[in-house]
Amino acid sequence: METTDFIRYRTMLEETRDALLNMPQDRTAIRVERTADATEEVQMAEDREFAIRVLGAEADLLRDIRAAIERMREGTFGRCSECGEMIAPRRLAALPWASYCIRCQQRQDAVDRRTRRGGEPDLAA
Ligand SMILES: [Zn+2]
Repeated sequence: METTDFIRYRTMLEETRDALLNMPQDRTAIRVERTADATEEVQMAEDREFAIRVLGAEADLLRDIRAAIERMREGTFGRCSECGEMIAPRRLAALPWASYCIRCQQRQDAVDRRTRRGGEPDLAA
């Protein structure tokens, strides 16, 4: 990989990580509130579920970014963690935290769909 590409990916990873870490931690939507109005209560339950899903997605992304920065230190960045092939530059430019090549990612996604249990993400993790 070209040094300039490497620096560009590292900058992207660090900037995305910092943006995630500096995001206002507005978790008020998760707080359970009681109202007399049943319709409103349903709406708030939906808002809460959405907020929990967003937080879960952010935590996942942050974990992927940290893992990618770690791979940069180890010198394995840009290689698929599964098959060891180089990840396509177009894919890395879009998702510098990708740890799989597109083929392995698709296979992984198919496995996830089969094994996903559903339910809430574990916020304690
Ligand atoms: Zn692969």
